[in-house]
Amino acid sequence: MFFWFIALTLALPPALEQWRAEIEAAGGAPVLVAEVEFSADGQQMRLPGDVKGRGLFAEYLKQEDFARQFQLMRGVMVHHQGFDGQAYLVMLNGARRGEWGAHEAALIGHEFGHAWLRAKGYPAPVYQPGVAGCLAIHTGDIVQHVLIRREMERRGIDPAGLWIETLEAGLRGARTWGDGEGTRRATGGDPCLALRQVAEWADVRLGLSAAGWPNLVAYEDEMRRVFPGLEDTVGAVTGAVLGREVADRQQHRAALERVFSLLRALADELEQRRGPP
Ligand SMILES: [Zn+2]
Repeated sequence: MFFWFIALTLALPPALEQWRAEIEAAGGAPVLVAEVEFSADGQQMRLPGDVKGRGLFAEYLKQEDFARQFQLMRGVMVHHQGFDGQAYLVMLNGARRGEWGAHEAALIGHEFGHAWLRAKGYPAPVYQPGVAGCLAIHTGDIVQHVLIRREMERRGIDPAGLWIETLEAGLRGARTWGDGEGTRRATGGDPCLALRQVAEWADVRLGLSAAGWPNLVAYEDEMRRVFPGLEDTVGAVTGAVLGREVADRQQHRAALERVFSLLRALADELEQRRGPP
C-alpha cells in the first residue's frame, strides 16, 4: 500500500465540533478525522494532504490486516496509544461514500460516540487478531451502541437514517441467500459472519421498533430463514443488555462480560459443528 496527497478537508457541523471538543477535554487527546480514498483496484490508499496526524493514520493503514478489514467498513475509530502520545483516529472509507455520503454527520457522530466512551473511561474488550478479534469488536459494539445512539439523539444527530438504510441493504442481500445459507457459511469456517449477524440483530432489537422501521418484522423473518439457530443467542444478548443500565460503568462491564460469554459460546458451538479439520 502507498499513499499520495489530495486536498480534502472535512468541515464538521457545529454539533460535531462541539462533541469533538468535549471528547478532547475528557480524554486529553486530539480527535482526528480523515477520509481515506482508495484507487479503483483497492490497492492504493490516499489521505488528505493537509490532514492532521497523517503519520498516525498511515501507521494503521499500512498494516495489511487492518486495511483489509477497513475496506469492509464505512468508518472506524482507533484509539491510538503509543510512545508518541494518544489520539482518537476516525477514518471514513471514501470508497463507500455512496453508502454514507448523505448521512455524513451520522457516520462521524457514530465514530465520535466510540471515542467519547473511551474518553469517559468506559471499559472495552481488547482487540486481538482472528476470531477473538471478532468477539471483542462485536461485544463492544453491542453494548456501546446503546449509549452512542442515546448520546447522538441528545445532541440532535439522527442515528436512524443511516442505520435503516444499511439494514435495508442487508435485507435485500439476505433475500438472495438460500434457506440456512448464512448459518452454513458460519459453520463452514466463517464464525465471524455469525457474530456480526448476532450483533446487528441484537442492535435492531435494542434500538428499533416496528413503528420506527416498518420492515423490522420482515427483517426478523429473513434472519430466521437465512441464519437458523442464531435467534436464541440474539435473545440472550438483548436480555443481557436490557437488564442493565449500561451507562453505569460497573453494569457496563457486567454487560460486556455476559455478552462476550454468549458470543464465545456461539463461536465454540459453530466450531464444534464444523468438526475436526
Ligand atoms: Zn459502532
